Amino acid sequence: MDFLVLFLLYLALVLLGFVMICLASKTHYLQGLISRGAQIFSYIIPECLQRAMLRVLHYLFHTRNYTFVILHLILQGMVYTEYTWEIFGLCQQLEFSLYYLFLPYLLLIVNLVFFTLSCVTDPGTITKANELLFLQVYEFDEVMFPKNVRCPTCDLRKPARSKHCSVCNRCVHRFDHHCVWVNNCVGAWNTRYFLSYLLTLTASAATMAVVSTVFLVRLVVMSDVYLQTYVDDLGHLQVVDTVFLVQYLFLTFPRIVFLVGFVVVLSFLLGGYLCFSLYLAAINQTTNEWHKGSRAWCQRCPHTARPPAAEPQAYRNIHSHGLWSNLREIFLPATARYERKKK
Ligand SMILES: [Zn+2]
Ligand SMILES: [Zn+2]
Repeated sequence: MDFLVLFLLYLALVLLGFVMICLASKTHYLQGLISRGAQIFSYIIPECLQRAMLRVLHYLFHTRNYTFVILHLILQGMVYTEYTWEIFGLCQQLEFSLYYLFLPYLLLIVNLVFFTLSCVTDPGTITKANELLFLQVYEFDEVMFPKNVRCPTCDLRKPARSKHCSVCNRCVHRFDHHCVWVNNCVGAWNTRYFLSYLLTLTASAATMAVVSTVFLVRLVVMSDVYLQTYVDDLGHLQVVDTVFLVQYLFLTFPRIVFLVGFVVVLSFLLGGYLCFSLYLAAINQTTNEWHKGSRAWCQRCPHTARPPAAEPQAYRNIHSHGLWSNLREIFLPATARYERKKK
């Protein structure tokens, strides 16, 4: 019982942490809460340690580096090693279909292709040579993207929907976000690879979760453990229940149960993020615009102080032209075709 409670608590904390991080970037109240938390920590932790932590955080999140790419490959490698080492052989003994068992490998290969493409493809770097071309692609909405604004770092005119990435130190066309997991910006030319990467990663985690769970369920059904009884700490005879079964499976196959827990949580997190990304793709909005748009919306909210004379500037998405047109824009970016022809 203790183990299950601790395990569920651990899963709940991981999920809660993730949701908090997602919400923190959106809500002023949570931002304040986090900065107050950081202030309290600054009294407890010695200054030299704080500086070292800041340096590490700066290196990890504000410079281009391969730490998360390597971590990604290590985690993927560990999950697939465990799958090959234990689950694959045991499933074969239980006469699982081979198509079913090879599906995670197929998804891994496709995923690695899109992962590499997301990492190495130019997201749409704006240069002196292509500046004029990019300026013609999108209309300026004069709220989020005003006309005739120059990037002070690159000294280039900023096309609508572009943003300067401080990590990569370049302006990127149709900037979505900088992703540490692929160590690259996600922009006009690689959003299609990033979405395909996310889709195949979610699919491979979900397939792995289904195969491993079906394996454990079939094992329980075949072994008849659920029909048996056991004597508890107080000496009473008890019928085997779910809690007992999970504990029994954890003691018999600790690595497989841990893997199931990991891939199930991962499937939900990735699935949630995938749905969000697909929703933004369908309405032709970038993560950057979604983030800025929510702030524009917040400025009209009565809790936020703003000059009384200021007109509320409502953000309106002017780039959506229907679902298929929006998806075509991501999967067949016009400027990428133009650049290829030029070469
Ligand atoms: Zn710039
Ligand atoms: Zn970047």
